[in-house]
Amino acid sequence: MSRLTEILEYNRTFVQNREYEAFRTTKFPDKKVVILTCMDTRLVELLPKAMNLKNGDAKIIKSAGAIVAHPFGSIMRSILVAIYSLGAEEVLVVGHHDCGMTSLNPDEILSKAASRGISSETIRTLSHSGIDLKRFLSGFHSVTDAVADSVSMIRNHPLLPADIGVHGLVIHPETGELSIVTRGKETPVPATSQEA
Ligand code: ZN
Repeated sequence: MSRLTEILEYNRTFVQNREYEAFRTTKFPDKKVVILTCMDTRLVELLPKAMNLKNGDAKIIKSAGAIVAHPFGSIMRSILVAIYSLGAEEVLVVGHHDCGMTSLNPDEILSKAASRGISSETIRTLSHSGIDLKRFLSGFHSVTDAVADSVSMIRNHPLLPADIGVHGLVIHPETGELSIVTRGKETPVPATSQEA
């Protein structure tokens, strides 16, 4: 059975058994936060549990390394949509220790691409078109610096409203322990949502 078939078969049962009912919510984040974190597999369930988030609580954006690479790219657009259209009031950038982006080697990726059939002509054409492939495929040296850089790009974005707090954190991928890199403006939690 293929991976896709396996997923589709499971899905049919999931829907038939109405297992979705436990997850019903709206598109508006109840906790008014948007979180940018890494796509690391260890964080799929650990991060929401470690931050006390359930379905409906937060907008969660993922990218390799929790990096905002470009002020007018899709990650920054997602953050702005979460704020303006969906009511997010605080942004949390959550990097993690032992991130794959720490050791990312552009030469290694390009040589793997070559061994998978990407021609050197394609690489040359991209380079001649002004695309800096080494930069595009580079990671970072320090997760705390990377989180601080992403926070800084968000905080200084010309379309970010002044009342939005932007925080930077690092999560441990085994224990879920959070440490603060930088604190932004904090919004008091309304009394009604403190009970849960
Ligand atoms: Zn990562």
